[in-house]
Amino acid sequence: MSSDSKYGFATRAIHAGAAPDPTTGARGTPIHQTTAYVFKDADHAAALFGLEEAGFIYSRLTNPTVSVFQDRVASLEGGVGATCTASGHSAQLLALFALMNSGDEFVASNKLYGGSITQFGHSFKKFGWQVHFVDPVNPENFRKAITPKTKAVFTESLANPGGVICDIEAIASIAHAAGIPCIVDNTLPSPALCRPFEYGADIVVHSTTKFISGHGNAMGGAVVDSGNFDWSQNDKFPDLVENCGAYHGLNFYETFGKMAYTMFCHAVGLRDLGPSMSPMNAYLSLTGAETLPLRMQKHADNALEVAKWLQGHAQVSWVSYAGLPDNEFYSLAQKYCPKGAGSVFTFGVKGGYEMGLGVVSQCKLLSHLANIGDTRSLIIHPASTTHRQLTEEQQISAGAGPDVVRLSIGIEDAADVIADLDQALVAST
Ligand SMILES: *Cc1c(COP(=O)(O)O)cnc(C)c1O
Repeated sequence: MSSDSKYGFATRAIHAGAAPDPTTGARGTPIHQTTAYVFKDADHAAALFGLEEAGFIYSRLTNPTVSVFQDRVASLEGGVGATCTASGHSAQLLALFALMNSGDEFVASNKLYGGSITQFGHSFKKFGWQVHFVDPVNPENFRKAITPKTKAVFTESLANPGGVICDIEAIASIAHAAGIPCIVDNTLPSPALCRPFEYGADIVVHSTTKFISGHGNAMGGAVVDSGNFDWSQNDKFPDLVENCGAYHGLNFYETFGKMAYTMFCHAVGLRDLGPSMSPMNAYLSLTGAETLPLRMQKHADNALEVAKWLQGHAQVSWVSYAGLPDNEFYSLAQKYCPKGAGSVFTFGVKGGYEMGLGVVSQCKLLSHLANIGDTRSLIIHPASTTHRQLTEEQQISAGAGPDVVRLSIGIEDAADVIADLDQALVAST
């Protein structure tokens, strides 16, 4: 089956991009563990290298197993194409690489995954890419930070770990007024709970390491293009609309139209930066994606139950979960994530830094580790771990102050998760 949008979400989660193997009839997608592919003849080889014919050359560029996963993710987000990568961080690198040159700027939410703040604020500077961080809670902050050199705005739909829901529609329209695309990291809700393209986002990035793959066993990332952004509306995106020196003068926009961005991410991004997804990880992630809608509903239902219980606990000072009716982001959650506000949220312990550390070490069922989006429930104290490299001011603005404990609620029985947290809170008081 193709990525045919006439099928519903659950059907596409299982079938999009996949077909029985034409040689063997294998129903499951085979793991094409090969680096290269034999050309039919010299003309075929030339056509593949000239991007005149679709096919496989070398697995840094494309691989048949990875390609099925790309079509699957593109279909679930409602996009025209996707580029899968070795990790979520390399997806972010590729997403911006097609848009940015040295001296360019982008505006990003300051409520991002801690690793993204470091990647944008430090490592991307070495390429001459300048980020301006703004508080996304007021979308107007993006408008104020945009300059003639700005090439994109970047936000998370549901921010990790602060539980902030961004007003994607407002942020995208500010980006469009400036002639630039809106990039949304949709890792936390996954397309099962939120689809940013329906609200005007132009590009979605994922750490498929998390919920899409879902079992905590495969790193991966994806860059998905909605196909809606007109790259030729101004002269801001020369790599896409001018004859591209990095690809013997090919004009991606004239040649590929709506697929220009995705083709550039493959033909230049993956070719020259090299962060390709392995076939094995694509296979594991495809298997995970099949149950995405079922898992996300259970994740969100369990998270709501745990959050409600924590709210009533004597040792807990606050709970920040956008699915709780008294949360400041509840109405945005109803709009953008009506089926549930995901499974990652934070709460504050009354005993501050020491008690936060105590709770994570006392848990027995919940695993103390630096990941989210696993079938298993996970717990971490961000200030001493994931957000350790940030200043205290940055920690607090990212929702990772000293008393904060972050949960990623799995799909176990909610009562068992609650019992484990209860004994850990009591033991660390
Ligand atoms: C984990 C994560 C990333 C980075 O992804 P990796 O797969 O770890 O490289 C980016 N954004 C968010 C929201 C994440 O949770």
